[in-house]
Amino acid sequence: MELSQSQLESVLGPLYIGPSNQYIGKCPFCHKSDHFYINRDSYLWDCKKCSEDGNIIVLLKLLGRLDLIKFKESVKRDFGDLFDDSFLKKEEELKIEEVPDYSMPIGYKRIYSDLYLKQRGFVENDFKCHEVGKTSIIPSLEKYLLFPIRQDGNIKGYVARLCVQSNALKRYDNPTAVPFGSLLYGIDEINEETDTVYIGEGIFDKFNIQKGLNFLELDNCVALCSFGKKLSDNQIYLLKLKNIKKIVLFYDPDAISSINKYIWRLNENMFETEICFNSTFKNEKGELKDPGELNIDEMAKCLQNKYSPFIFSRKFII
Ligand SMILES: [Zn+2]
Repeated sequence: MELSQSQLESVLGPLYIGPSNQYIGKCPFCHKSDHFYINRDSYLWDCKKCSEDGNIIVLLKLLGRLDLIKFKESVKRDFGDLFDDSFLKKEEELKIEEVPDYSMPIGYKRIYSDLYLKQRGFVENDFKCHEVGKTSIIPSLEKYLLFPIRQDGNIKGYVARLCVQSNALKRYDNPTAVPFGSLLYGIDEINEETDTVYIGEGIFDKFNIQKGLNFLELDNCVALCSFGKKLSDNQIYLLKLKNIKKIVLFYDPDAISSINKYIWRLNENMFETEICFNSTFKNEKGELKDPGELNIDEMAKCLQNKYSPFIFSRKFII
């Protein structure tokens, strides 16, 4: 197989040839200049800054540019084992972890009104749709709102969010024993009509995305959160069990490389995929807003302006 410098540059931007027969350029994952090395013979690559590495097939797949490799057979001949190991692991089984049930803290009671949540845009209907409560029995949790995480009706953990002004207390005080990376908040809201889910990073992103979906009357769509900018096999498996067809990632503006990584993982698992991304709306500090900070008009615009993985790569990564 041969890839010309200009073909590589069409994906990675300008490259120069280093002293030990390597192309050197800007890393497509962490965007650090002059730290991305590709061996000109083996096409193995790595970044000296963020340590991402792999073979050329993995790279082109991550960047959505497998079209640069015209003939599969020649790829197989040239790459042998690498090809079998890392290319299109469609048949690979997802790793599943059964998450045990979890008990809410002693004294937990559901609430239907709260000043902090009202300030964050909760209206009466939100308290009906989204279960939230407090406990006054455990002193360390008194100042926290507790959001149970349910799966098939059973509680698997909870998110604890500080609801008063305090510099001494953590904003979130979530139980450490809960495997958040294996759970999806909001999954029980999926019903028979649901064919599309939107995934944000945190619960307030989820609430705000859901508000936008309701505003646009997208009744076939449900918003979830993945507790951070990662999607585990377990989380992907949960969505397969629910017969979801399409997944729209709506992560924070700083999550470009994560989005790129997981969108292709979802594609491998036969989901249709799109990306919502705020590259426009800024807060008072001049930073791009997370989905949870967008007002309803901004949210509607972001939801209506979706990117395919390919267009996203071209627009934000290269
Ligand atoms: Zn890098």
